[in-house]
Amino acid sequence: MADSVTRRQFVAAAGAGGLGLAYGSNSKLAVLGGEPVRKAPFPGWPVVGSPEENGLMEVLRSGKWFRGYGDVVNRFEQKYAQLTGAKHCLATASGTAALFTSLNALDVGPGDEVIVPPYTFIATINVVLLQHAIPIFVDTDIETFQMDVTKVEPAITERTAAIIPVHLGGAAVNMDTLMAIAQKHKIPVIEDACQAHLGEWRGKKVGTLGATGCFSFQASKNLNSGEGGAVLTNNDELAEKAYAFHNNGRGKGVGGYTFSYRAQGSNERMTEFQAALLLAQMTRLEEQAKLREQNAAYLTQMLNEIPGIQVAKTYSGCTRNAYHLFMFRYRKEAFADAPLQSFLKALRAEGIPCSAGYSPLNKEPFIKNVLNSKGYRRIYPEKLLNEWEERNQCPMNDRLCQEAVWLTQTMLLGTRQDMEQIAAAVRKIQANAADLRSV
Ligand SMILES: *Cc1c(COP(=O)(O)O)cnc(C)c1O
Repeated sequence: MADSVTRRQFVAAAGAGGLGLAYGSNSKLAVLGGEPVRKAPFPGWPVVGSPEENGLMEVLRSGKWFRGYGDVVNRFEQKYAQLTGAKHCLATASGTAALFTSLNALDVGPGDEVIVPPYTFIATINVVLLQHAIPIFVDTDIETFQMDVTKVEPAITERTAAIIPVHLGGAAVNMDTLMAIAQKHKIPVIEDACQAHLGEWRGKKVGTLGATGCFSFQASKNLNSGEGGAVLTNNDELAEKAYAFHNNGRGKGVGGYTFSYRAQGSNERMTEFQAALLLAQMTRLEEQAKLREQNAAYLTQMLNEIPGIQVAKTYSGCTRNAYHLFMFRYRKEAFADAPLQSFLKALRAEGIPCSAGYSPLNKEPFIKNVLNSKGYRRIYPEKLLNEWEERNQCPMNDRLCQEAVWLTQTMLLGTRQDMEQIAAAVRKIQANAADLRSV
């Protein structure tokens, strides 16, 4: 008896430290009081060192904290344009500000429709509503988690003024198909690349293929300055319009006490402090992206072997996934029909942080309230507003929202053994799926 206990303990310990193949029906789920697969935390974020300290102190001591006084924002813009291959880069206060600036530069406003995905961060939709335009949702490709671009053309009307694809999680939307449709109908594309720093479509950086491309440097993103954003464009006129909009309608070189206005605008500027952080963080960007790619490839291979788990696929044109998120689908049919929430709870208990991701934004009640508001009623015909809900059904996305599991990018900055433990935890839950019903 003593021998068999010892052997079991040995096998469990080997499993926790190594490939984790040992988790069979004998090892009790941690959520039900068993030993967790893992107790150690995953790598923290942000990664910080002397480049950040030096850069920030330099700006602090210079007393030049505003982009109009210093040169750090300008330097960041040059570097980010160089890195992405874009002709112009405009730094902004946030990713939301980058999207907002793009819509204004493209003159999208009241009376317009803008095509968006329902599976995204709410900012993609908010900026459309702030312009008093109408978001038109197209369904999601459940295999890739991306906007299903084959459904874009039927959603186009005479009101369509822009399309905002989101390169979700860092992988690219099918840009070949999307750009062909956009060009055919002469509709500008605003790429929401807020999660896709260094992501690529056929060897070109995402964010450089549409009329504009928008990035976020908010604290959770793969390039981080707490808050921050950027607009990329290859179009000189759009670059000038975007600059003016983000600078209260004042063109380039207009600062200080010169008051001359090109158009209405806002203040969406980045500070010198943010730019200093970005220049420092950029020294590690490529190296971190490579590590995420290697770990993600290894994890994908292990997870796809587990029944009921399907890692998000990428289109063949996506030559680089930026892995802001590691996303997979949980098919409860293969887990004794246990609901997603039970799986997530069990996975967390095994020491693997995870979430269910986005809820379906096309069903957000607040959007209906906005469409019913006084302003919208004045701008749009009643029929159009009344038919909005019917026009915006996204059944595949509804299903995806009940199956999606997300791991964050910081987990991909760990070791191969970390990846093995993630897979071991999922494998353990799969082997004990029947017990999930009592979770
Ligand atoms: C983060 C994010 C934004 C908004 O960026 P902020 O910098 O937080 O304003 C927009 N779209 C997507 C897809 C994002 O992930």
